[in-house]
Amino acid sequence: MGNIILRGGYLIDPSENICGERDLLISDGHIEEVGFDIQAEKGDRVIDCSHYELWPGLVDMHLHVADLFEISTNTVYCAAQDGVTTALSPGAGNTFMAPALLGAETDRGLPINVGVYLGALNVLGSQLDDEELIALFKGELKDELKWEKLSHNRFTNSFAQYCIGLKEHMGHFLLTDEQIERLYHITSESGLVFMSHTQDPEHSARLVELSKGRQIHLGHTNAAGCGTHAEAEEGMKAVIGLCKHPNVTGEFVTTMLRRGLGNLEGLKMTKASRQRALDALNEKIVDILVSDGQNQSTMKGFGDTRDNIPCILELVEEGVLDKSAAVAAMTSNPCRYLAEVTGCDEWKCKYGTLREGAYANILIVDTENKRASYTITNGEPVSFEGRYIRGHGYAGNWVSRFGTSRTGVGDAPMYSTDN
Ligand SMILES: [Zn+2]
Ligand SMILES: [Zn+2]
Repeated sequence: MGNIILRGGYLIDPSENICGERDLLISDGHIEEVGFDIQAEKGDRVIDCSHYELWPGLVDMHLHVADLFEISTNTVYCAAQDGVTTALSPGAGNTFMAPALLGAETDRGLPINVGVYLGALNVLGSQLDDEELIALFKGELKDELKWEKLSHNRFTNSFAQYCIGLKEHMGHFLLTDEQIERLYHITSESGLVFMSHTQDPEHSARLVELSKGRQIHLGHTNAAGCGTHAEAEEGMKAVIGLCKHPNVTGEFVTTMLRRGLGNLEGLKMTKASRQRALDALNEKIVDILVSDGQNQSTMKGFGDTRDNIPCILELVEEGVLDKSAAVAAMTSNPCRYLAEVTGCDEWKCKYGTLREGAYANILIVDTENKRASYTITNGEPVSFEGRYIRGHGYAGNWVSRFGTSRTGVGDAPMYSTDN
């Protein structure tokens, strides 16, 4: 089969400032051309997009992919059905082995691109000192030293650095000021995302104070607007205030941001705290949206990828953001942030964008029904009208702070990497 042509869709690409009708040509997993009247050649497949919008595939930088012991059986498939093409999984319990395990999942076949954060406490859980940890995460630590001080597992040692950042979580462990200082030093020197569990505004204020200007990302920021640790509106106001610091970023969970205010099983905002969050989006104090899913799970009520597309569209309906800004919150904005922190330009040039040369991660949106009509990962349609397409279940790649790996870990023992 030849290329795929998406014909006549209304294309919204915030990274290129495009809002208008365009055709799009996909070739060999990449976006080959964006233009008008692209002609099909023999063997090409054409998708009529004239009733749909074309967005970059959603980049959900907070989506738990199986890092909660599969309390959901369906995470990545649901995510694909809901238009997510890249997910980063912030398991607070993830050890140094987690990247290798995710690599094995990629080998088994995943329909979307996936990456992991390590649990913050686990980052401190070896004999490596801070400078050695920084060398590890930069990919510069010698194998001998890994064997001596990190682990006696070849896969752990080879792949530990292929993460995206770390996740601090006050529901799993409470860190001392000294430990937090170490984590700031390691993340800021090695280009890892430092994501924190936001819920108790006092906890977040302490973390920001200890940051001394180093980057901190307040995970699920609007959980502070759910009244579990402080009055809801006050809590929301407090953490939005923290997000005004130039080194502090936030993210809002789509489920809690919708008019229904959240899930019964998880957390719910109040109308007043929700309004604070909408104002913060409107004023660009927070410009990233996440699901904090996983779907169809118990004990995980913060969010769900099913709310991503409806939330983006409803923010436009309610006049909070224009369409381009709303789409950017789950495409170009998280990618810009990831590129800034990790120093890896691929995040900005090849993800969260529909520009020529980017990976063909594309969402064809049925705006009437507020759902993904097609989800395309690396040029392969992985979902159609809410149904996962098994034949393309290998489309996803493994992503990290170094960019994209097309293979997982299965073939690693075949080669020497000592060169
Ligand atoms: Zn959390
Ligand atoms: Zn989470």
